[in-house]
Amino acid sequence: MEKVVLLRYGEIHLKGKNRGLFDNQLIKNIEQAIKKVDENCSIKKVGGRYLVYNFNQFNIDSIVESCKKVFGLVSLSIAFEVNSTIEEIISSLNQLLEDEQFFLNNAKSFKVEVKRADKNFPIKSTDFERELGGVVLEKFPNLKVNLTKPEKTIFVDIRENGKTYIFSEKIECFGGMPVGTSGKGLVMLSGGIDSPVAAFMMAKRGMKLNAVHFHSFPYTSQQAKEKVVDLAKLLSPYLGKFNLYVVSFTKIQEEIHKKCKPAYMITIMRRIMMRICENLSNKYGFQAIITGENLAQVASQTVESMTSTESVLKNIPVYRPLIAFDKIEIISLSKKIGTFDTSILPYEDCCTVFLPKNPLIKPKIELVEKEESYLDLESLISEAIKNIEIIEI
Ligand code: ATP
Ligand code: MG
Repeated sequence: MEKVVLLRYGEIHLKGKNRGLFDNQLIKNIEQAIKKVDENCSIKKVGGRYLVYNFNQFNIDSIVESCKKVFGLVSLSIAFEVNSTIEEIISSLNQLLEDEQFFLNNAKSFKVEVKRADKNFPIKSTDFERELGGVVLEKFPNLKVNLTKPEKTIFVDIRENGKTYIFSEKIECFGGMPVGTSGKGLVMLSGGIDSPVAAFMMAKRGMKLNAVHFHSFPYTSQQAKEKVVDLAKLLSPYLGKFNLYVVSFTKIQEEIHKKCKPAYMITIMRRIMMRICENLSNKYGFQAIITGENLAQVASQTVESMTSTESVLKNIPVYRPLIAFDKIEIISLSKKIGTFDTSILPYEDCCTVFLPKNPLIKPKIELVEKEESYLDLESLISEAIKNIEIIEI
């Protein structure tokens, strides 16, 4: 009798001809996630699911936690795997009952659900359900059978491969598509609440992401940068391995401050950030820029501001997965994915350096361009790119 982790996948069912591609990527992603926990464990596909084997049983909770963060999986269970004989199934059921005795002593109702994919198994599902139900009732006479709304369901899954899987819990995963099946993007990662959530959302649709962060040392602190590295590490179970490009923005901000009208500071800054992102994308093959922007959240997130920022881009779209979310929804997601507590640490972002009292809410592009003409954009940008620090996450 061996404990295994049983993984179920979702939407990739729909992918017809590309199915193999999605399957392979998903397996690769699961492998990467579980090998980090226990390098001996292995994965196998059995009848439309994956099974994780050969791990040290002490690692089981960490394996579950890692798999929960692999996009493409919809749910998972910790299951006993036994040979499909009546004796072995009953003995693993007894083990499961022992493991769960605390819950079952206090529960009122249960049912046993048998699925018999292997039609050679000698007992029909409903008959076997009754027999196994009897085993449960013998140990827990306080329980009643409830077929419609039981407190506990014990699943017995008799597969074609001669094996049966017995489990009593289905743990929900995030669903989505396997990372690496929907193109490559560059997420602009600040230290705030929104951009890590934006990264999560795009990775959930299968996009392979790398990240860029702009900092203004010494106006912004070393801790502000470390906070972003920490956020990137928290994202890596979802995103897989990636590069964080750290761009020094100090000189650019000083130049804007010196040469342009204060009200244009943020608009121009953001336009230059975009130009640098497009430049990096051309170099590394990213197909979209992702931001955590959200309509009407702040002055730089009006329709006019966002139009003016992205109008500098020639050949790349900006994706803003959070555009229509309420802040409350974003916060609740960021708690769910585990980035919130780090995001709210109080280190300043470069966007708050030289912050004007009255930033433009509806910048006019001609006037922005006029202000920008006082800067030597080309050399500022190429210098920033030359000095990029690449951190492998
Ligand atoms: P966040 O919570 O993600 O910081 P925000 O609500 O504070 O977002 P802004 O500061 O206007 O909004 O930034 C909007 C978006 O621009 C961010 O979500 C992020 O994608 C990007 N951004 C802002 N500052 C930086 C930075 N220093 N480095 C990289 N990207 C940044
Ligand atoms: Mg911010």
